Amino acid sequence: MKKILTLTLLSLTIILNAQNNPIKHVIVIGVDGMSPDGILHAQVPNLDSLMAKGSSTFECKAQMPTVSSPNWSSIIDGAPPAAHGVWSNKWQPSQIKDSVYCGGKKGQRFPTIFRVLREQRHHAKIVCFAAWWSFVRLVEPGVCNSKDRTFYTHFTGLRTANAIKIRKPDLLFVHFTEVDEMGHKYGHGTAKYYATISKVDKEIGRILQAIKKAGIENSTVVMIISDHGGVGHGHGGNSPAEINVPYIIRGPGIKAGYKLKGKPRNYDTTATLAKIMQLKAPDCWEGVSIDEIFDKAQ
Ligand SMILES: [Zn+2]
Repeated sequence: MKKILTLTLLSLTIILNAQNNPIKHVIVIGVDGMSPDGILHAQVPNLDSLMAKGSSTFECKAQMPTVSSPNWSSIIDGAPPAAHGVWSNKWQPSQIKDSVYCGGKKGQRFPTIFRVLREQRHHAKIVCFAAWWSFVRLVEPGVCNSKDRTFYTHFTGLRTANAIKIRKPDLLFVHFTEVDEMGHKYGHGTAKYYATISKVDKEIGRILQAIKKAGIENSTVVMIISDHGGVGHGHGGNSPAEINVPYIIRGPGIKAGYKLKGKPRNYDTTATLAKIMQLKAPDCWEGVSIDEIFDKAQ
């Protein structure tokens, strides 16, 4: 009984806090394989504008191995591979049938931010789009209202912009995949690689416009993150070009034009989002909130 009462009070506190929170929407834009070098050499007016109006670093740290699945998992799970157990792109949910994470049920995935939001706010509108279909297996079934594959860069941008205008989601996560593909095909640091970053930047512009048109700009946080950089035609190692990724965040209460002094781990960005959304982070998350991005007045 006491436990039920405590849980009810906790839920009530979370609901009341959510109502007072000036931030109602969080849009996370994940760009696979987008290195800081790529941003520096490509035409990226929209990323430039986000950095000018928000807080950013080019030394956010990817986890080893610098491969997509371990790092996207770290970004949505608030913990490194040693905790969530996703070590390679070969990982499949069937591998965890006997595992128990975070005091959950046997065979459940390590809790993602999507599930944490769903459990603490049952009616939250959660949209998960991924151009890389493998991303979808990293997210629990049933926690996103829509979890769709979006294919090409342009279509991914259009889908995301429409979802923002129509649904005004509490949390939207979109994953762009083409930059990584061009890095593998033509090489990182090539004209084709940079041109694809510019192409994604254009779609980021479309997403920012949609936030404006939806009338939610003053209550929306936008975050940009990548899973790893690259060297030559690949990635996976621990060189600075592979480990360092961009982290950009803009929104109410977040410092403008601020360059981070710390070098956060990619899974710290998850804890930061939980704080922004006033969610209680699960005990098994190891990330800590990146508090230097917040305006002191907060
Ligand atoms: Zn990747």
